[in-house]
Amino acid sequence: MGRKRRKIIRRRVVKPPPKVFVCPICNQEAVAVYHEEGEEYARVVCASCKASAEVKWYPAYTSVDAYAEFYDIVTGAKKVVEVPGSGSSEAAEPGGEDLGSGGEPDEASQGRED
Ligand SMILES: [Zn+2]
Repeated sequence: MGRKRRKIIRRRVVKPPPKVFVCPICNQEAVAVYHEEGEEYARVVCASCKASAEVKWYPAYTSVDAYAEFYDIVTGAKKVVEVPGSGSSEAAEPGGEDLGSGGEPDEASQGRED
């Protein structure tokens, strides 16, 4: 009578990735990752303190990865990525590279008041 109890129920627990994350700023579990299929960037927003960041989205990324980027950005560990196509480069923060340095020859030759 070798009747063994077979109780090998293979329960495959597929854990869905978390949808909300803890915000490093306000400590609330309110950070959501918004990413559209095919988009190169994802927007990570905290619904509590409104902290948000746009992060690059790689094909292998999950919302957890985007959250990690967001975390680095809002905590100051990483610089915010520049999103191409959203405004001109003139909107750069002050203290950046000074591209327009040097004299302006046009004005120098014409603006003579003597
Ligand atoms: Zn927050």
